[in-house]
Amino acid sequence: MSDGAASARVSGEVASAPANDAAQLRCGFCGGPARPAGPRLIACAACGSATTFPVPDDRELAAAYAGSYRPAEGRFGAGGDRLLAATRGRLARRIDAVAPPGPVLDVGAGDGTLVAALLRRGREAVGLERGGPSAPMGTRPIVAAELADFDSRAGEWAAIVMWHSLEHLRDPAGALAHAAGLLAPGGVLLIAVPNRDSWQARILADRWLALDLPRHLTHLSAAALTDALSGLGLEVERVSHWRGGQVLFGWLHGILAALPGRPDLYDAIRQPTARTAALTSRQRGRTLAAAVLLSPAAALASAGEVLTGHGGSVFIQARRRAAGRQPAH
Ligand SMILES: [Zn+2]
Repeated sequence: MSDGAASARVSGEVASAPANDAAQLRCGFCGGPARPAGPRLIACAACGSATTFPVPDDRELAAAYAGSYRPAEGRFGAGGDRLLAATRGRLARRIDAVAPPGPVLDVGAGDGTLVAALLRRGREAVGLERGGPSAPMGTRPIVAAELADFDSRAGEWAAIVMWHSLEHLRDPAGALAHAAGLLAPGGVLLIAVPNRDSWQARILADRWLALDLPRHLTHLSAAALTDALSGLGLEVERVSHWRGGQVLFGWLHGILAALPGRPDLYDAIRQPTARTAALTSRQRGRTLAAAVLLSPAAALASAGEVLTGHGGSVFIQARRRAAGRQPAH
């Protein structure tokens, strides 16, 4: 646990508002009663989500996002960047296929890879990224703002994307409600989050890569998310336990982390400045070789959880009903 969390727990005086009163543990998503579920988690009996607790204050989060998380020179090598661009290109194609004409808002746009892919397809697109872009954006329109503070008209957006960003927000339920209001009639919300109700979350426990403490503030279950979207009046059109990505890698990372020396595959594929710890080329080579050897086991585990509807991440496509007619499919 970091100093920030420790001081928050001891002093109880947290400048940035998180509710850390242990006597009243509340789910960070639905507000239901929660109980301790690990060294830094509380679990909600009502919706099946978990919440990082104590809730990190702004100082702890700033420290967690600084340095190796997303250095200016990039996270991955050239191959990783190409892979990321290719997957974002596929997502951009999907958005184009399912959204009505109009602009796309990418909430948690990172370095703008998806926004750039959308613009290349001729879609108007804007990205939101707290703290602003970490790399030169060129002509990519990235706005340094949170969704709640972003100046936008109701009904303005043909599609809103929250690709592995909802779990980083202090008020994810509020963000969903806000996003639903910004959608145009017939507009579509596309969300991917780690799935707390996955085999890998349960089996890998604190070795689960997507726990990502303290940056992930809530750990949503697929059911909690679909229920919330339905509650907002959106039509949940598609739920995929594979399309959200990170399923196979989550298993591979977790299986490796159980080996002696706890090799860190995520570090091994990142640029030296983007690693959480120094790695010799020999250590890195051993980690990558072990990953290759163990990939059949990870593939088997991935297939099992995806086929049973308990994938390590979940993708959800939900549409605001067009006035007076059935939603398009
Ligand atoms: Zn809950």
